[in-house]
Amino acid sequence: MVEKSIKMEVVTPERVVFSEEVDSLIVPAAEGYLGVLPNHAPLITGLEIGVVRYKQGGRESKMAISGGFMEVYENRAIILADTAEKGDEIDLERAQRAKERAEKRLKERPPDLDVVRAELALKRALARIKAAQ
Ligand code: ATP
Repeated sequence: MVEKSIKMEVVTPERVVFSEEVDSLIVPAAEGYLGVLPNHAPLITGLEIGVVRYKQGGRESKMAISGGFMEVYENRAIILADTAEKGDEIDLERAQRAKERAEKRLKERPPDLDVVRAELALKRALARIKAAQ
């Protein structure tokens, strides 16, 4: 059957963040941004920290995710993410504070700094800021 929408589900260890029909979605896949339309062929891909964009009735919304996996199968796109927040759930000030904290650490480079951890925190904060705007 030819479908006009696809079910998008976003699940974290904490909660079901999203479970609705969408017209299309674009995810930050490991190899770059990947668009998924209804009736997409089955696939599994790793996801980076970034922004998921999805359309409903032509209106675009955004969500921040901090890496995970997506499986597309039988007209469903299932995203399993470490954390995920819809744009309107994001505390922008908190994300801005997290960004400044990470930037300060990376600039000052204290001897005990876990650089990778600080870089990942910065990426999460930047994704949240983008998704909230
Ligand atoms: P922070 O330093 O502000 O805690 P973080 O990147 O370390 O940021 P995470 O460990 O990725 O935070 O997330 C912890 C929990 O807090 C998750 O449930 C996540 O969805 C939520 N969360 C993190 N930042 C925000 C935000 N700015 N707005 C809303 N929820 C957030």
